[in-house]
Amino acid sequence: MGEGTALPAPPAPDAAPRAPRTEQPPALNSARPGPRTEPPATLTELADRLPDLPAAERTARLALLTPAEREQLAALPGLAAALRSKLGDREFADTVAHLVVQVAPGVDRPVSAGHEARTRIAAMLRDPAVATRLLEQGARVLVVPKDEALTTLGPFRDLAGRDIPATGRTWDTVRGVGRLNTGVTEENLLGETPGVPGASSYADGYSTTTHEFAHAIHRYGLSDADRRTITDAYRAKLHPSDGRHPADVEWPDGPRRSARDGQPADNYSSTDEFEYFAQAVNAYLGTNSGTDPLTGHPRNNGPAWVRDNEPGLLPLLERLFGTTPEQDGPGPANPVEATRAENEMYEGFRAMWDRAEGVHRAQPHPPVPAPPQGRTPAVPATHPVTGTGAETPLPPPPADPRGGVGRRSPKA
Ligand SMILES: [Zn+2]
Repeated sequence: MGEGTALPAPPAPDAAPRAPRTEQPPALNSARPGPRTEPPATLTELADRLPDLPAAERTARLALLTPAEREQLAALPGLAAALRSKLGDREFADTVAHLVVQVAPGVDRPVSAGHEARTRIAAMLRDPAVATRLLEQGARVLVVPKDEALTTLGPFRDLAGRDIPATGRTWDTVRGVGRLNTGVTEENLLGETPGVPGASSYADGYSTTTHEFAHAIHRYGLSDADRRTITDAYRAKLHPSDGRHPADVEWPDGPRRSARDGQPADNYSSTDEFEYFAQAVNAYLGTNSGTDPLTGHPRNNGPAWVRDNEPGLLPLLERLFGTTPEQDGPGPANPVEATRAENEMYEGFRAMWDRAEGVHRAQPHPPVPAPPQGRTPAVPATHPVTGTGAETPLPPPPADPRGGVGRRSPKA
């Protein structure tokens, strides 16, 4: 089944049903393989009523659906138009986010992770034309458990055992993927630590969720004219017309120079127009904290920086995400430090409680995998402007060299 087909993907032949866990939604992969069947009457009835329900009831009805039901509803022809004719832009964005986000079985905190994912995705769906295109083209978002490789999940199994070309990385340890089915991770949504050997954490405040969903917007949500705007802005940054040395132009991830020896070197956002757009979106949304893994320079972050440095992209970003994301957005992403402090506090309570009962056992921290900091990749030989085909899965940047303990930019 190709990428153009919507969730749920058919299970692999050897997919065994998972044992149910507490608070788990039914397995995404439990849907029967084969052609899509007629949705049951209860779902078409819900689709008819959905546009007229009060917002809270609409949200509650969507939250109660099984993943398979939610997907059947999301795929109903005409649903987006019916919703859009009755709902304001914000309500429409919230509703589409409830339709496209699924939480995989195995997520430790499915309620919190699902809420965080829908909130961040809804803030990126404020342009109703873009939200409509994404819903109708089958763009979906799947929250990956923090303790499982994304390649264990149905929509991403084709990536298992595969290397990401020219990066020294493998999809089995990468924590996020951008394509028609966007993979985002529980740990990045909640500021937790991944439990997958070989996977590492991102800086406090850096969102792989907004980065990966920006790829989905770029490829499946924008018009051709919008995509040309991105191409033009990317080329203008590569070839500055104001006399600056190209290596001194500031990108979302800093200059194209190594912090070690000052030599020209690409940063992650300058590698191609897709990473440029995704990191510019992160900067605009205030989720681009941390250090660029290729140059060692701090990333630029916050809408103020974008307003001053990305004139070619600014009108598009304002249309997509509003003119004041610092006021309207869901706030800081990937709260690593706050979550660690909270977890330690609860462990302290638990230890005290256990001692009081005389059954205290030390509660070890989950092992923090050592980030595999490979060699810094050499400067790419080419800058493909249209080279990445729509089917190519796009990873997030390599993790911050400092792991999850990055500093949050004051602008975030
Ligand atoms: Zn990317």
